[in-house]
Amino acid sequence: MLYRKVPKTGDKLSILGFGYMRLPANASGGGIDEERAIRQLRSAIDHGVNYVDTAPAYHLGRSEQVLGRALEDGYRKKVRIATKLPPWSVRSRGDMDLILDGQLATLRTDHIDYYLLHSLTRESFPRLKSLGVLEFLDAARKDGRIRNAGFSFHADLATFKEIVDSYDWTFCQIQYNYLDEQGQAGTEGLKYAHERNLAVLIMEPLRGGNLAGAIPDEIQEIWDASLVKRSPAEWALRWVWDHPEVTCVLSGMNDERHIDENLKVAENAYPRSLSEEELLRVASVRDTYRRLMKIGCTGCGYCMPCPYGIDIPGCFSLYNARYLFPHDIAARFHYFSRHGGLMGGVSYAGLCQACGKCEEACPQHLPIRDQLRDVSREMEGGMRVIIPILKGGLWCMDLAGKVKHILLRDA
Ligand code: SF4
Ligand code: SF4
Repeated sequence: MLYRKVPKTGDKLSILGFGYMRLPANASGGGIDEERAIRQLRSAIDHGVNYVDTAPAYHLGRSEQVLGRALEDGYRKKVRIATKLPPWSVRSRGDMDLILDGQLATLRTDHIDYYLLHSLTRESFPRLKSLGVLEFLDAARKDGRIRNAGFSFHADLATFKEIVDSYDWTFCQIQYNYLDEQGQAGTEGLKYAHERNLAVLIMEPLRGGNLAGAIPDEIQEIWDASLVKRSPAEWALRWVWDHPEVTCVLSGMNDERHIDENLKVAENAYPRSLSEEELLRVASVRDTYRRLMKIGCTGCGYCMPCPYGIDIPGCFSLYNARYLFPHDIAARFHYFSRHGGLMGGVSYAGLCQACGKCEEACPQHLPIRDQLRDVSREMEGGMRVIIPILKGGLWCMDLAGKVKHILLRDA
């Protein structure tokens, strides 16, 4: 494991941080596989990871609870905890202390090493400031409840610079990957923060997994043509680590194979280690993705829950998949089964009532209502007819299974 220094304190952070926001699901799919989540984190710590990032919003508070338990048995002292103040839960200065004290109890610790104001925006930062958040951070640093103050960010570059210059932050956390050089804080924001001695932590290095999941043929061909053989995830991570301004890259890991791969890459991902040819190859992949993607949704989930039950990132993901993998007929089937009610409740795009709540929360500023209309038009054709037929088929299969069971039992 390589380590990079936090400029203001000299603290050495592992270049790979463990994002505790996508914990493994248990076999029934109904909750977190806590034992596995704890085992995964402890194993990563044993291999040199010393930074773990959580938040009250992750798994509706369960992430902080599981992390508190994961860091028992001596693991707490081996790792820096990062967690966040959720601006949407704060109505007064008193709320800030209440939330932080609750987090300390949940995380079973007497201090948070890296404390962030979660996902600051042009609206939320002035509101928090008017409620006294900067005084709160001063006080919490002074009384030792937090060690370092920072913020995470998904808004525009001008707002980012304004926030960087508003307080004596130790660090900030931005979305950054080879598809988002221009978006949000972007490369300019990364350099701006670094020049002001902030440690810069990176989230979404794989853009919600999109850069490492099922890779379109056109993209894979570009990777395959390289003399250096790497997985798409390794290419994406190495591209981020290639920037000397980056301190630590957070990966929301929940699969042992991915954890092992990321740990291996983090052994030698030095800054400025990619060759010109390799950088050109990444640029070529970026241009191709931009051409293929219909909707730039990262799957962050900030737009959720929708009051009408729509799974917004889920609908967008399958819509994108349909364009990225035009030969794959699975996207529409998955759409029907996951969102059309085949396997349970309905959460399809056509339910949208255009209230606009989701658009206010979307860090990518996507025109979600318009895009859901496109999704509905292109993905839901015939759904209301096909779903009952498929359901009838499932019912028949179920009935056949029961009849077979009775016949065998009585034979
Ligand atoms: S605009 Fe549509 S998708 Fe967005 S929150 Fe309202 S109903 Fe849900
Ligand atoms: S629509 Fe926006 S807020 Fe919702 S998951 Fe996608 S990027 Fe995130």
